[in-house]
Amino acid sequence: MTDLPADLRLRLSQEFSFSCFEVTGHQTAKDQTEKLLLKLKDSELVECVLMRDPGRRTVCISTQVGCAMGCVFCASGLLGVKRNLTASEIYEQVLVLHRLMKDDEQITNIVVMGIGEPLANYRNLMDALEVLTSDEGFGLGARRITVSTVGLPEKIREFAQSGKQFNLAVSLHAPNDSLRTEIVPVNRNIGIDEILAAADDYFEQTGRRISYEYVLLSGINDQPHHAAELADRLRGRNAHVNLIPMNGVSELVMTAPGEPDTEHFRSVLEQRGITATVRKRKGADIDAACGQLRLNREQQVELDQRLMS
Ligand code: SAH
Repeated sequence: MTDLPADLRLRLSQEFSFSCFEVTGHQTAKDQTEKLLLKLKDSELVECVLMRDPGRRTVCISTQVGCAMGCVFCASGLLGVKRNLTASEIYEQVLVLHRLMKDDEQITNIVVMGIGEPLANYRNLMDALEVLTSDEGFGLGARRITVSTVGLPEKIREFAQSGKQFNLAVSLHAPNDSLRTEIVPVNRNIGIDEILAAADDYFEQTGRRISYEYVLLSGINDQPHHAAELADRLRGRNAHVNLIPMNGVSELVMTAPGEPDTEHFRSVLEQRGITATVRKRKGADIDAACGQLRLNREQQVELDQRLMS
């Protein structure tokens, strides 16, 4: 901008930044999934992902640095939570992924399924979603945006009042409270009934069918009797179950069941009247599971620091 005075240009270059992060890692998988590792102004790291399907471009974004929920199979929570992302740190992930795409591509869907618990950073999430949906902003329809939550009932009820038709995905992962509390420790103070009641409320307010996510962990929650119990629990609800065979995390011993057990679990749900799909794995040859890229980088930093001291 040579029409600005030189000293102002100098100050702008030193003090102003268009972006609230720097891309510090970029991986492209064989299936053209792209994953970015972002370094924020305070050097914290988060991840975001672009997934390509025929006629569909979905971006997956993070809402916190780390996560406090402590789900036992998830890489994002292994180091706890550091802080909430600001609204601009949330929506800018969409913009930076948008810039990676070819001219004839456009983002069709956003899933808030990256690092963090979105409803634990509710205000900043809502500010970001406002920018992403408003006509002066990114202009995407609320129905194309899915927020995934561990299941915080009060926040789900607040979210139901947004006046917009965002999709809600609830991470259930178990059909009863004792098993769920083992897998998702925050369940201890919440309980499945409370979560289902809040999700029912969400459906009533918005008319959007709820998705229940269920990570399949071999030998833990993947047996046919778990599927039958889950179907009984969800009966009568306008619900869809999204089965996610666990993505391996090198620090953890849990694994996904094989394909036959996964299919059997799905068929038990279907026989009992609950529609279910198995989530396709994307970006399997890059650090695929949630939060892994950040975790690997953080561990590298810790290791480097130890070697230097
Ligand atoms: N905090 C939100 C978003 C988490 S990420 C939530 O709990 O929903 C989105 C989904 O991926 C959640 O269902 C989460 O439980 C699941 N997930 C996390 N780690 C995973 C792993 N290693 N393998 C498969 N799914 C995983």
